[in-house]
Amino acid sequence: MIIFRTLTLTLLICVAFATQASTNAVQLAKGKRLVNLEYLVDEQGSLTIDTILSAQKGGSLSSLNWKSLVNTSPNFGYTLSPYWFRFKIYNDSSMRADQILEISYPQLDYVDIFQFRTNQPMTQLHLGDRLEFSHRLVAHPNFIIPFELVPEEAVEFYIRVQSGGSLQVPLNLWQEESFYVSVGQEDQIHTFYYGILAVIVIINFFVFVALRERTYLYYALATLGYLILIGSLRAKTFQLFWPDAPWLHNQSLLMAIPLTLVFSALFTREFLHLESNAPKLDKLLKAIISLGALAVLGSFTLSYAASVRASVLLVIPSFLVLFSCGPLLWRRGVRAARYYSIAWGVLTIGGALSALNKYGVIPNSFITEYGLQIGSAFEAIILTIALAERLYREREQKVLAQAESIREHNERRHAEVRLMQQILHHPVTHLPNRASLEMAINDLSRSQKGRNFSVCLVHLARFQEINKTLGYNNADLVLEEVGRKLNQLAQAIVGVQFIEETDDDRFCVASFEAASFGVIFDNDILNANDESLPAVKERLFRPIEFKGMRLELSPAIGIAQYPEHGVDAATLIRHAHVALEAAEAQENRVAYYRPEQDRYNARRLTILSELKLAIVHDSLTLNFQPKFSVRDETLIGMEALLRWNHPRFGLIRPDEFIPVAEQTGIIKPLTRWVIEHALAVLQDLYRAGHHISMAINISASNLREADFVEFVSSAIQASALPAHQIILELTETAMMTDPVRSLAALEALANTGARISIDDFGTGYSSLAYIKKLPASEIKIDRSLIKEISSKSEDQVIVRATTQMCQQLGFKVVAEGVEDELTLRALKQIGCDLVQGYYLLPPLPLDRLVEWLCKDSHHKNAGSMPASA
Ligand code: C2E
Ligand code: CA
Ligand code: CA
Repeated sequence: MIIFRTLTLTLLICVAFATQASTNAVQLAKGKRLVNLEYLVDEQGSLTIDTILSAQKGGSLSSLNWKSLVNTSPNFGYTLSPYWFRFKIYNDSSMRADQILEISYPQLDYVDIFQFRTNQPMTQLHLGDRLEFSHRLVAHPNFIIPFELVPEEAVEFYIRVQSGGSLQVPLNLWQEESFYVSVGQEDQIHTFYYGILAVIVIINFFVFVALRERTYLYYALATLGYLILIGSLRAKTFQLFWPDAPWLHNQSLLMAIPLTLVFSALFTREFLHLESNAPKLDKLLKAIISLGALAVLGSFTLSYAASVRASVLLVIPSFLVLFSCGPLLWRRGVRAARYYSIAWGVLTIGGALSALNKYGVIPNSFITEYGLQIGSAFEAIILTIALAERLYREREQKVLAQAESIREHNERRHAEVRLMQQILHHPVTHLPNRASLEMAINDLSRSQKGRNFSVCLVHLARFQEINKTLGYNNADLVLEEVGRKLNQLAQAIVGVQFIEETDDDRFCVASFEAASFGVIFDNDILNANDESLPAVKERLFRPIEFKGMRLELSPAIGIAQYPEHGVDAATLIRHAHVALEAAEAQENRVAYYRPEQDRYNARRLTILSELKLAIVHDSLTLNFQPKFSVRDETLIGMEALLRWNHPRFGLIRPDEFIPVAEQTGIIKPLTRWVIEHALAVLQDLYRAGHHISMAINISASNLREADFVEFVSSAIQASALPAHQIILELTETAMMTDPVRSLAALEALANTGARISIDDFGTGYSSLAYIKKLPASEIKIDRSLIKEISSKSEDQVIVRATTQMCQQLGFKVVAEGVEDELTLRALKQIGCDLVQGYYLLPPLPLDRLVEWLCKDSHHKNAGSMPASA
């Protein structure tokens, strides 16, 4: 279209404003003769019809200098001088004829026609495109002068023509009918032609509105500009749209030229993507656009003649530039440039045919006569097709891109789902995994505040064996099967919580590493329906069938409860693991979490790592709790009790760190530290005159130390204290873990001279026969039996029986944990030998103890504490 526009524009301008004489011959109606065609240049512009006529009458004819004219389509180029024409038309025939004289160049500013007939007054007609259309006798863009000729009559015409543009005066003489027939035909062709352009304008405009793509707008505007330009050149717009405004007609013509150029250039830039495809050319086009815009402004300020000349000067080189864009970019492989070049080519051919025809090089035919119109119509159509094709291709690309992005999106979704599946499921059992279980637990603890639930871990203890026996592939199959069964089994339990529910599956078992499974139960529902549990347990412990084999899986179950054992998933699962360890050591294979068993809790780990340092750095201390004789309430001895004042945790009771020490082996240096320090204190007390005993607690693991007896013996010897004043306390349960070995070790210990005391008696299940064998001299009845002795008669019975029995076996009986007067009285009454307890004195630090010893030695320990106190 751009081509179309530019090319056509240029050609039109060349044709319309050409200053060369046209050789197009006038066609005279048959039988009519046009005689003496002459013209006269009125250089001063002073002649009128009257001056001319009077000059002729006056005979001074020569002074007017009429020149004869052979060509009926004279073209005098740009001149502002008025030209006069005169000629006569004879009717040689015997028929009356209605004739039409046509001046077929609609751009002329002023056309004054004077008609003379014999014996008739002069008639005159003033035409021209500077006058309103209403002056015309016939509504036609060209200047039409109808007249009639009776047979043998002649009409003489004087015509004065003046114009700011090029002065062309093509004269045609028509028979009235044939003129109207020809006008009708021409109108049809032009209507068709204008129609095509108008449709193209509208289509492209709507495409622009729909797509907001500037290319279409520019194309629509350029085509519209072209339409207006052709319409104005042919004065069709003048006739149709503004017949009463000649100035607008001239203005529209002046503006249409540069505007069409501007929009054509804009279109070319967009259509060929010049900015990226040919940046230099793009700059040139931008310059053309700016100049075109200036020319539009110029059409308002410059004179008609100057404006026309400026436009033509701009349009011709610009046209060449726009024209060359096509082939140039075609060569660079720009697809759109092909259409552009072809469209341009068609227009060029059409324009050339028109021009050649006009200049008489080729004969008159429909194609040659309307070559420019046909070419430009084709050009417009080709470019519209190109735009449509481009639209289609872009749409198609968009659809493809959309399909592609949907495909990618789906792939991503699938990958995500697969990944989620992998992240949240066990690779072998396909059950939810640990992460899923954690999420489920956290969800429950968030949503079910106030409700209790249990996290159970089931571990298949024998699974490692199966792995080794059947191989990994089979073991995986077993595991998968077990997972499936477990899931079924768990679903049968009321109160089980679902870990994952999908459209086709519900899982209430999670699968962990190392053949473990996790299940969550709602405690309240479970407790209310606990009949279902035994059956489930029974089925769980049943061996499973695999390839004809019966496989014993030996499951163990560890349970942690929300909220007592933890409020978050990680803690609950960890605690269930701790419980699982305990369960594996138990007959019934089921255990609840117990914090004291938890070898893994953080405080315990700290204690573990710091206890050794505490021994080295002496941050441990000993407290001392006295033992009194029941009979006379005198002080008999002390028991050394460990204290650890931890920098972060504060005071830590031995109940907490002794088990840690026992499990880790630290108990060995620890006990030795206590023995050394306790003996040192006793030495000091002895030196101060307090001849009392010192009880030291030892642990069962000390008995397993090869050199323990030796250590004790040398410590006692080194202290130079009487060995019988050293009492080693060992709990009953400690002895019972390995009775034979304990017995042997205790005998060796007793041989050092130290006395042995059986601590916490009554909490274990030692047989009397065993006790009898022990080389102990003292039995300490556990404070759990002493505590309620004054209120619970059964306890009193037990304590009484135990006391009597032990005394009969030769043991001294100590009651520990005496907390009040009543208890003390009861014990007195029963006949215990010694008492110990908060009521009498709590464990005290050494300095407080010494203080007390000095103060109270008179009454409480008068017997055993000589004057030294
Ligand atoms: P134990 O040997 O039975 O020690 C007596 C415990 O009872 C002490 O607790 C003491 O403070 C507490 N006690 C004393 N009178 C009363 C009373 O009237 N009422 C109540 N409720 N409790 C009373 P402590 O000091 O916390 O020691 C706890 C346990 O730690 C000891 O029990 C002993 O088994 C162990 N232990 C303490 N020191 C050592 C040590 O040096 N070595 C070893 N191996 N174990 C130690
Ligand atoms: Ca003790
Ligand atoms: Ca005790």
